[in-house]
Amino acid sequence: MKILKALSELPGAPGREERVRDYIKELVAPHVDEMHTDALGNLICLKRGSAKKPRKVMVACHMDEIAFYVRSVDEKGFIRVHHVGGFDTRNLFARRVRIQPRKGEDIFGNLNPSGRPIHVATPEERNKIPTTNEFFIDTGLEPEEVKKRVRAGDPVTLVQDFVEFGDLVSGKCMDNRAACWVGIDTLKRLKKNHDDVYVVFTVQEEIGVRGAITSSYAIDPDIGIAIDVTLAVDTPGVSEDEQITKLGKGVAIKVMDAYSISDNELVETFIEIAEKSKIPHQMELLPMGGTDAGALQRARGGSKAITLSIPTRYIHTVTETLHKKDLKATSDLLVKYLETKP
Ligand SMILES: [Zn+2]
Repeated sequence: MKILKALSELPGAPGREERVRDYIKELVAPHVDEMHTDALGNLICLKRGSAKKPRKVMVACHMDEIAFYVRSVDEKGFIRVHHVGGFDTRNLFARRVRIQPRKGEDIFGNLNPSGRPIHVATPEERNKIPTTNEFFIDTGLEPEEVKKRVRAGDPVTLVQDFVEFGDLVSGKCMDNRAACWVGIDTLKRLKKNHDDVYVVFTVQEEIGVRGAITSSYAIDPDIGIAIDVTLAVDTPGVSEDEQITKLGKGVAIKVMDAYSISDNELVETFIEIAEKSKIPHQMELLPMGGTDAGALQRARGGSKAITLSIPTRYIHTVTETLHKKDLKATSDLLVKYLETKP
């Protein structure tokens, strides 16, 4: 879990994934035949297959996380931000954040909504849910210092320690560093793949799968597999029927979400392999949201695509929580698939 902890705690706003990419690069370098970073910042890793006429299988794991960019610094040194990705602002009160200035060390601060605190707020103010534009960062630094070091456009990410408790792990941006972990683990374990396997650590997924669009155009895969987290709403207040997935019940084989419908043959194949190899798995239908599979499926003339999901509680909060067993099951199923003769 050392690698997942490091991945979780690294900052990687959409468009500024370089620290995550550098970390992954170093880990996977000894395990790939070729590796390069494209113009958008996608890290494209190739592991050649043994088949005479190998197909191209592309696995996409996005590196970015929902984050902010600095919008302005006011006279008192308070920083306003612009959000990049879908936040539920109810989860943004009293958060520690990291600013990456263009020079010097990272600056840390507190994120809170503007306005009066609950002790002195009117009943109306208390019930209002603020927009991200109303939040500000207090760095504790003198206004002149903030103005000197922080500029509009600097990335801002949430800060949270990674923790293990019981069989679960929790931290920020398990969406989608958990999938990066699976991508790294797969490259390390893959020994006898028949097809050429491209594991692509993509950028800017959270704002419309942008990195997957260009990388899948370039690779033009026959088969596309997105690895991502999915909702596990197996928690109080939600009916059995609406849980999407359950923690600890294995990798989720996605049938559909709002961006893509998985190729039916691939769904059948993955179920068959999971059953044969006794890998815990569950089916997933997600009414909203999407993954890089939406881009993979539409690459050039199209590819057969599917998503393997890691069930995760409290998605898009800093307490994203998953089960170690599900993480392992995802990696197991992916490796098994890539090493099964087509
Ligand atoms: Zn994601």
